[in-house]
Amino acid sequence: MPTLVMKFGGTSVATLDRIRRAAKRVGREVANGYDVIVIVSAMSGKTNELVGWVEETSPLFDAREYDAVVSSGEQVTAGLMALTLQEMDVPARSWAGWQVPLKTNSAHASARIEEIPTDNINAKFGEGMKVAVVAGFQGISPEGRITTLGRGGSDTTAVAFAAAFGAERCDIYTDVDGVYTTDPRITSKARKLDKIAFEEMLELASLGAKVLQTRSVELAMRYGVRLRVLSSFEDNDDNAGTLVCAEEEIMESNVVAGVAFSRDEAKMTLLSVADRPGIAAAIFGPLADASVNVDMIVQNISEDGRTDMTFSLPVNQIARAEQAMAAAQASGEINFSELVTDSDVAKISVVGIGMRSHAGVASQMFEALRDEGINIKVITTSEIKISVLIDRKYMELAVQALHDTFGLEKSA
Ligand code: ADP
Ligand code: ASP
Ligand code: MG
Repeated sequence: MPTLVMKFGGTSVATLDRIRRAAKRVGREVANGYDVIVIVSAMSGKTNELVGWVEETSPLFDAREYDAVVSSGEQVTAGLMALTLQEMDVPARSWAGWQVPLKTNSAHASARIEEIPTDNINAKFGEGMKVAVVAGFQGISPEGRITTLGRGGSDTTAVAFAAAFGAERCDIYTDVDGVYTTDPRITSKARKLDKIAFEEMLELASLGAKVLQTRSVELAMRYGVRLRVLSSFEDNDDNAGTLVCAEEEIMESNVVAGVAFSRDEAKMTLLSVADRPGIAAAIFGPLADASVNVDMIVQNISEDGRTDMTFSLPVNQIARAEQAMAAAQASGEINFSELVTDSDVAKISVVGIGMRSHAGVASQMFEALRDEGINIKVITTSEIKISVLIDRKYMELAVQALHDTFGLEKSA
């Protein structure tokens, strides 16, 4: 039997009614002749609540216990989905991650998948089971502890299962009907894309578009998984969603495919550090050791042998970064006059593979921001993206202005 993976996100399993709705869809694919692997998220809001409980109980929590707690939401929906399918006379059973077992490394709270044995589930398909419902977002470490894959990790569970089982497709059911040119919550002009290239989706996801977890796109690209994003609320035939696929499958596309943003960014500047070989290593080594995810980096031109070093980081890592820098200063590894933190910035990025062959995107982006009176604090570019850091209060305005200036509401 051909296999299909269907993943239902938090809003798609938020109530028993919605679980029934999702189960009906699964039933239809079974009727179409598929063996189905369903990956479920926790009910929407549940994981946030669990994270809140952990943080309230233990601010510097043991990540192994964090994973034990936050993985529980998915176990509930997996069982409920299996029961719902059974009530519809569809042979189904649930699996927690460790039962599969979905094997990961030991990086608790952001574990990486290492292996998914297929024998256990395939044996059940062989016995006539039609649907394997698997709790997303979770696995088991070599030490036998429950791990989780990072927020939004059920997308990655789904793609990894699709790769392991050689599924015909991996369908990600969510609360929007596909991947848009930008988050449709920010502008009503956002346009749904029929197709998007893996590389573009990878950049959009890593730059803040949370419709797919970055790692899921990486895996889909590596293993050639046909990945589709579609609505769990629409039942009509037009609900084809967005196919994330190889660049070669896309005939025409805009130079800029989409605009992404990341709201919770911060910027730090070390004023007047010695400009000497090894200074970057002396700053960013301790930050890495403190698990600070540094993103953009700018070093100013030096004057009298001293320079300023600016970098961006997630806003919730400020305390950790400040601690690491203070410790490096105290031990004499670095010597700065002041550490200036700006916790009210956002990152806006434009992404498109067309930029490889098209000059002028950067200047057009900067002009559009200038016309709105928005000051750019830091800029970074790569082959297919340009990112800027701006004051957070202008984030929505900037996204709308860039969406307009690159004509994203119309297709090429
Ligand atoms: P799920 O719970 O199903 O995993 P998520 O909330 O993780 O859903 O992801 C879906 C959300 O992603 C949408 O509601 C939308 O607000 C947001 N989003 C951000 N950028 C985009 C984009 N470019 N296209 C579509 N949705 C986007
Ligand atoms: N429930 C987890 C989260 O909210 C995983 C997921 O939904 O993908 O992050
Ligand atoms: Mg998600």
